[in-house]
Amino acid sequence: MKIAFCSSEVVPFAKTGGMADVCGTLPLALEKLGQDIVIILPGYKSIDRRKFGFTQILEDVSQSTVGRNITVYLIEHENYFGRAGLYGDEHGDYPDNLERFDFYCRRTLELFKELKLKIDIVHCHDWQTALIPVYLKEKLSGDAVYKKIKSILSLHNLAYQGHFPADDYKKLPFGNAVFQKAFEFYGKTNLLKAGIVYSDVVATVSPQYAREIQTKEFGAGLEGVLRARGESVIGILNGLDYNTWDSRRDRNIEFTFAAEDIRPKANDKAALQKKYKLPVHADVPVFGFVSRLSHQKGVDLLNSAMAEIMKMDIQLVFLGVGEGKYHQMINSWVKQYPQKVGAKLVFDEEFSHEVYAGSDFFLMPSIYEPCGLSQMISLRYGTVPVVYRVGGLADTIVPHDQGGNGFVFTEYTAVAFCEILKKAMDVYRDKESFSRIINESFKANFSWEDSARQYVGLYQQCLKN
Ligand code: ADP
Repeated sequence: MKIAFCSSEVVPFAKTGGMADVCGTLPLALEKLGQDIVIILPGYKSIDRRKFGFTQILEDVSQSTVGRNITVYLIEHENYFGRAGLYGDEHGDYPDNLERFDFYCRRTLELFKELKLKIDIVHCHDWQTALIPVYLKEKLSGDAVYKKIKSILSLHNLAYQGHFPADDYKKLPFGNAVFQKAFEFYGKTNLLKAGIVYSDVVATVSPQYAREIQTKEFGAGLEGVLRARGESVIGILNGLDYNTWDSRRDRNIEFTFAAEDIRPKANDKAALQKKYKLPVHADVPVFGFVSRLSHQKGVDLLNSAMAEIMKMDIQLVFLGVGEGKYHQMINSWVKQYPQKVGAKLVFDEEFSHEVYAGSDFFLMPSIYEPCGLSQMISLRYGTVPVVYRVGGLADTIVPHDQGGNGFVFTEYTAVAFCEILKKAMDVYRDKESFSRIINESFKANFSWEDSARQYVGLYQQCLKN
């Protein structure tokens, strides 16, 4: 099978979120399983051509290689991609994003032919690439090069759909009937919706999220369209890079440790307490929080529970950046409870390893969570996740009282949240029960290999149909 990965973000070239990790790592795992992959992304100004060994092969295309033999193509366009940001700047989204990503989609499809890529499957990601399935079916189905290509659209976060004014639709070549059938969304143009309607398969990043997005609560207005796709909506859990996140050989932590003997973790904890200027107490549980600071991640829930939480013998450490109001909120907790709350409101990947390793628990009270990586990372360090039962969190964290690897609350209220925290504190004091949970956490396997196998199965199924 020859698979084209089309994405607006791919590590290590361009990243604003988790989608970049998926699009940079999944191809490598697929290649190890014998698949033939190419990656095509916009040639943003920020990509260091020299460092990554890109050479120009056409006037508007550069090429490099990743993995053993995966060709990466950059679509160059000074006017569209020669800017500082991927999608916008301090004034907000670029006003011509529809033209920019329409151009990317069209040029990508042209390259299939020009470079004789013989693509069987095109795997698209989020709204930026959602026009590809539409072009395939509406404009290219008469051409032998494109006729048999199957398209998969992966949904990484339904909060981002590519909404544009209805008028912008005139810039696309599909006509009014297609607008009504696929793009129209409360009087606006919605690119993701069209991609969902036109792709052969819709994939999401966890089985639970695949179900949730077909409901009003989580569908962000697209639940009806998704329900109409029924069986074609598939959830495959994202994997984690198990080389980067490994308590046994992590270069970013001072004291490495293995599941069989986690005693050095106590030293990581003491170091973490020191760095956050908290009292160094071995028997006070530390709850870590590493996240974008947004409503999605549950900072508001923490806020409504904070007074109650602060009555417990507990320490909270925050590492995050995001919306200004959450920076203020967390800073005010630090000020009010300096013995119990510490914060570093920056993005610091290296330091995040110390938080994952040194904490006893990891807090992840997301209101929705397509997949979530942080809970999987925690499990690699014997740090017990405390999560809301939603999306990928529900698929990866099994409640402690069912022999599982974490603590799960099922009602999104401050009361239920405090209750699960109290429960966690009780179990923490019962050393035997707590080490059983830690053992469970180390047993989990969320590496890419298994997910990549599922994608191969999905591609094969897709070609058969
Ligand atoms: P999302 O993609 O919605 O932000 P995920 O849990 O899927 O959430 O992935 C978040 C990733 O970003 C994790 O690897 C987490 O460790 C990392 N991260 C988030 N905030 C920070 C930060 N301030 N510093 C370092 N790493 C962070």
